[in-house]
Amino acid sequence: MIPILMYHQVAELPRELDPLGLAVPPDRFLQQMSYLALHAYRCLSLLDVACILREGRRAPAKSFVLTFDDGYHDVHSTACPILERFGFTATIFLVAGRMDASSDWMGQEGSRSGVLLSWVEARDLARRGFVLGSHTLSHPRLTQLDDPSAFAEIRDSRLLLEDRLCAPVDVFSYPYSDSDPRIERLVESAGYTAACAGEVGPWSPFHLWRAQCVRDDTTLSFALKASGWYHRRIALRESPPGLFLRRCLRMLRRSRGNRKPSRVAVLSNDPGRDPER
Ligand SMILES: [Zn+2]
Repeated sequence: MIPILMYHQVAELPRELDPLGLAVPPDRFLQQMSYLALHAYRCLSLLDVACILREGRRAPAKSFVLTFDDGYHDVHSTACPILERFGFTATIFLVAGRMDASSDWMGQEGSRSGVLLSWVEARDLARRGFVLGSHTLSHPRLTQLDDPSAFAEIRDSRLLLEDRLCAPVDVFSYPYSDSDPRIERLVESAGYTAACAGEVGPWSPFHLWRAQCVRDDTTLSFALKASGWYHRRIALRESPPGLFLRRCLRMLRRSRGNRKPSRVAVLSNDPGRDPER
């Protein structure tokens, strides 16, 4: 299993504009890339990973993959120049119907929307060797769409990107990491070779786990994510014993909850309190 790191923005944003902490400050990002270079980590492209998985080979030791979701403008202006200093590559997942626009879906998450890449910048990144993938046409929650609508988001984004970038688009990333087996089958049938998800569900070429890198990552938390420890923790949690343990804990929590008297019952027995207030 290869540690795949997920970034969104590399920018200095005030906390109130980025409540989810998805923007990593440029100096922190530089430190993180320096750490990987200093410790002789080897950067693979997501296409290498797809190939390794298809052939059933073991990944080289100390390898990692970098991905950026949404395709923000600062990936071109800030992140990629830093990556090039270290000889690293990355995959950037673009929202094909929002190129030259902004991430207006971020308003739903309480975050400020950001400027997205233009077609010119995306073509420049492809020319410089970065891999470009699809992140749908409009960034919907795919599991909430019916098959034809979801397939249009998945397939048409690929066709549009390939047409405008004049480059193959073989990898996909689920918006909000929202996927299920039905959506994964649609992605596969649209011709992609691999897809990136979040950190829940079984690992497969169309459900590659990623460790999200955030503003508040410390050197230790970043080192754990890059080392694969984070992915091993997910593997343990998603294994049959891990799933069994989680089910037991859930049942235990539910039975404890049932034994506790409800708040309304407690309040009803308290003559000094009105349960309706
Ligand atoms: Zn996204």
